[in-house]
Amino acid sequence: MSSQISVATLGVPRIGRHRELKLALESYWSRKSSATDLIDAAKKLRVANWLEQRDRGVTAIPSNDFSLYDHMLDTAVMVGAIPSRYGWSGGNVSLDTYFAMARGSQGDAEANCGHAHAHDQGHHGVTALEMTKWFDTNYHYMVPEFSTEQSFVLSSTKPVDEFLEAKALGIHNRPVLVGPLTFLKLGKSLETGFNPIALLAKLMPVYEELLRKLAAAGAEWVQIDEPALALDLIPNEREAFKFAYRRLAQAAPDLKIMLNTYFGALGADLDAALAVPVHGLHIDLVRAPDQLAAVVEKARPDLVLSLGVVDGRNIWRANLPSILDMVEPVAAREGAAGIEIAPSCSLLHVPIDVELERALESDLKSWLAFAVQKMEELATIAGALADGRASVQAKLDASAATLASRASSLTVNDPLVQGRMAEIGEGMKKRKSSFAVRRRLQAAKLRLPAFPTTTIGSFPQTAEVRKARSKHAKGELSYMDYDAFLKKETAAAIRWQEEIGLDVLVHGEFERNDMVQYFGEQLSGFAFTQHAWVQSYGSRYVRPPVIFGDVSRPNPMTVAWWQYAQSLASRPVKGMLTGPVTILNWSFVRNDLSRSEVCRQIALAIRDEVVDLEKAGAKMIQIDEAALREGLPLRKADWKTYLDWAVECFRICSSGVVDETQIHTHMCYSEFNQIIDAIAAMDADVISIETSRSRMELLDAFKSFKYPNEIGPGVYDIHSPRVPEVGEMADLLILARERFGDDQLWVNPDCGLKTRKWEEVRPALVNMVAAARQLRQTAEAA
Ligand code: GLN
Ligand code: ZN
Repeated sequence: MSSQISVATLGVPRIGRHRELKLALESYWSRKSSATDLIDAAKKLRVANWLEQRDRGVTAIPSNDFSLYDHMLDTAVMVGAIPSRYGWSGGNVSLDTYFAMARGSQGDAEANCGHAHAHDQGHHGVTALEMTKWFDTNYHYMVPEFSTEQSFVLSSTKPVDEFLEAKALGIHNRPVLVGPLTFLKLGKSLETGFNPIALLAKLMPVYEELLRKLAAAGAEWVQIDEPALALDLIPNEREAFKFAYRRLAQAAPDLKIMLNTYFGALGADLDAALAVPVHGLHIDLVRAPDQLAAVVEKARPDLVLSLGVVDGRNIWRANLPSILDMVEPVAAREGAAGIEIAPSCSLLHVPIDVELERALESDLKSWLAFAVQKMEELATIAGALADGRASVQAKLDASAATLASRASSLTVNDPLVQGRMAEIGEGMKKRKSSFAVRRRLQAAKLRLPAFPTTTIGSFPQTAEVRKARSKHAKGELSYMDYDAFLKKETAAAIRWQEEIGLDVLVHGEFERNDMVQYFGEQLSGFAFTQHAWVQSYGSRYVRPPVIFGDVSRPNPMTVAWWQYAQSLASRPVKGMLTGPVTILNWSFVRNDLSRSEVCRQIALAIRDEVVDLEKAGAKMIQIDEAALREGLPLRKADWKTYLDWAVECFRICSSGVVDETQIHTHMCYSEFNQIIDAIAAMDADVISIETSRSRMELLDAFKSFKYPNEIGPGVYDIHSPRVPEVGEMADLLILARERFGDDQLWVNPDCGLKTRKWEEVRPALVNMVAAARQLRQTAEAA
């Protein structure tokens, strides 16, 4: 006789197998369907998810993991943290208010910098909440805004409603909440120096009321997510956490709390997590397997341990036998009722079902597990624990066979790449001469004016460009015609840039679907899916590339486009590449090699491209590292290791050229305060960064740190359709001159222009060139 072992998912993707949620939202936003249609579509998705989990052996089935847009936004709405600009006056929060918070009240303005960095705001209407990355995932949440005067009131019963909705279907379920610590810590305070954690005492009554309502509705357990426990907490935050959970436990003594931690080890907060009077604790054993021993050792005997053993952040089939090796002793010690089997974190971050992929190579497909495959893995582990391994022997054998097939596959292992990796020497990690020497040689060769003007790479991806691409993809536009169309766009962009007097040109990136995908599609070791969408934010989903094997570059990827553009230009055209760290951070990465090693392989591939561009005659090559900073580990203690290899990879890819070749890099941010040494250590000859929105305030890091190389702090906010005046940009440049020498400064926009319209870009860049000319005159006169 076996006793059941609980199986949890902690949360599942909301978007639907066929992106039903996106369709429903967009059709509601464009007023093609009603609120009722949207609500019905959402309910269908929830029901399908509940049934799917039940059928695949999940027993702790989550509710309230669903969201129309974002779970942090839902939480803000639930507790009535709704900034006054939305005109909410208490009571139920309407869909319109909800979506105004999500997207602004101006409708469909969603320009983003590469991968969803910011919302576009028009001149009128109400601005959306800010959006930022959820921990170190590529999911973006809406940042709650708090003021010192903040008050809270229970303004939505969504968790209770969805609990009852599932219950009515006969599904015993466990509501999921964002915990009060995480909610406040991830919020933003409008007053500087005010830590929203100070609002905890005011917030608690709302959570308490909600827990009482859930208990009254019949909930037995509630899952409360506190991923903030994987961050470095300050002592008063730790105290706040303990205070909060003592209160929650008292509020509804019959409701059991599963305290859910993930994305890393509890570290210094382990004792605090074990000290609070909750009934269960979930720990991430994929990111932090080493914490298991301490948790088992120190936990109260009656604490239910939820063991996060299947990777909720990646897409590879689990190694079931080795997971069992890890958890069998725990099961033996705690008993069936004392443990639960779960993914490391909610399955929100993985695609839904690998069976939808019909075009994937069959070996690769057999190595992958998306959300529903992971549910089965979890059930298998629980089955093995309850009834012995023999009861699921075939599944364990299949798991072992999968791993063996990956390990020995010729598509994974490329001896040439492995050989090159072994040969990366110190000489490959640095330029031949120092920047001082390079700068002289480059100046002599390039003969640029002071304050040279350039752009970041892309020009508007107009409806026409996107249409041509999709027609070509569908086979409705021949390769020849598509190529001719792209050439025409590129030629026009070159002509126009020369006309308005930009000093350093770009080809415009019309041929690129995405700055990572474009390269991934041409590299060995990468695969692309058809349906493996994951939510980036709201109704924006992405299909990250899958890096499954050793990476190499069989053929040049950008050289022909650069050559074509340069052949039409009298001024230098920059070669334009995406850097290894960014490619890595925006992909699903193989888990049989360390991330740093995978990144080094990509660096070698990009290095080959850099060398080929130089051979073809490129004098300047830009390698974008938009995602370098966002890859920073959650805990400070881990930063140095990451930055060391990230910088090293950039140096590997950029050091194969002669001193005269100018290497540029670009980053879509400038909060460099804590990583400025690493940025300098990349040793790019020129870096362009985003600064215009902060009026150069973000350049504070450069006040104390003398950035040694050349730099282009963005003077044109490309997130807005607004055309900046000459004077505005000239003013920003004057501010920049307070931080940098005249001989260091470049003049450029904040980021690529692909999300803008030509009508906005044309006057803005004309003004930018005029601002640079003004500056040249003042500088000469001085
Ligand atoms: N070169 C890219 C572009 O201009 C850079 C994009 C980015 O930094 N996100 O589009
Ligand atoms: Zn950018």
